[in-house]
Amino acid sequence: MLSCQNVARHSVVPASCSAGTLAFSPEAAARAIINAGQSSPARLARLQHLAAASPAAYDAPFALFPMNTPARGSLLGIEHLEANEILGLLKLARRMNPQKARPLLRGKRIVLLFYEASTRTRSSFEFAAKALGAITTLVQSSGSSIEKGESVLDTGYTLRAVGADCIVMRHPSAGAPHLMAQHLDIPIINAGDGMHEHPSQALLDAFTILKHKKSFQGLQATIVGDILHSRVARSACYLLTKFGVKLTLCGPPEFVPDVAATLAPGLRVTRHLEDALRGTDVIMLLRVQKERLAGQKIRLQDYIARYQMTTARLKLAKREAIVMHPGPIIRGLELTAEVADGSQSVIVDEVHNGVPTRMAILARALGKAK
Ligand code: ASP
Repeated sequence: MLSCQNVARHSVVPASCSAGTLAFSPEAAARAIINAGQSSPARLARLQHLAAASPAAYDAPFALFPMNTPARGSLLGIEHLEANEILGLLKLARRMNPQKARPLLRGKRIVLLFYEASTRTRSSFEFAAKALGAITTLVQSSGSSIEKGESVLDTGYTLRAVGADCIVMRHPSAGAPHLMAQHLDIPIINAGDGMHEHPSQALLDAFTILKHKKSFQGLQATIVGDILHSRVARSACYLLTKFGVKLTLCGPPEFVPDVAATLAPGLRVTRHLEDALRGTDVIMLLRVQKERLAGQKIRLQDYIARYQMTTARLKLAKREAIVMHPGPIIRGLELTAEVADGSQSVIVDEVHNGVPTRMAILARALGKAK
């Protein structure tokens, strides 16, 4: 189980809702949730259960805090999006062509503010912005004033003052983009916040699934791996269950605590890969995130023995099942090279679909979703 210290590193709870408050305490979070008075009793019970079972699973309590309304067009998570907003974004993404520049965002300034490593998300947001005619600038923790100790919000105010029209933000702390959105009057796009959400990944995954499976109707999907630490899994659970996809979560208890089944309605948890794969149309693998495993007792060899996706195991799924992975893939760990490069793998296509999906997200953010 992760310690509170670990949780603190991954959480940003505006406990007093004052600018720049980065302190985390589960007590303060629980108090604030209760004070916020906007949670249903069922949701509160679920959160309390989550907090008791694993502080890490309870990594996003601020999602319940009353906030200054984020600027129109912000994309902070999937959990609170309506199904028709998601479908609207996916429809818009289908109309985006990264090869054919459309100057919808000509002259707009988009800042890519990355406090964590990224290859796919960062480059695809940048290409997406440029394909729409926007000007981009990259600000990373190393080489910027962040290194000198500038707070998240002060960095945000600075970027706004130099003329940013939109900030795409990745941060190791859950809730950092929400905090930013609470204080700035420009759209904030969450490009991954701690162990909380990764909404653009969920949208590009949905785009990919619809490309290969045509409809969500009757679909069965399985997510295998480290659900607990995965913002990708969390956003995928929210999105797929909104469309009635039958979703199974599979992994050892350290990665998939039983309480994970309460993340969204209709989720099923199993420890057995064979059971999880039977009849599935979509297999989503997750990277084993070594950077989030401090204090965990999991042995990688055991994980590989029980959960690695191999060609033989893949045969247990439906014949046309697709294999997805948000990347970066670690060949020989969560999957074999044969599976990664095999005919059922759509991993490269997912990366490719990241550009039109993010074009849609940016066009919507800046009011040009035509
Ligand atoms: N690229 C994804 C993320 O940023 C998944 C991962 O890094 O494992 O969350």
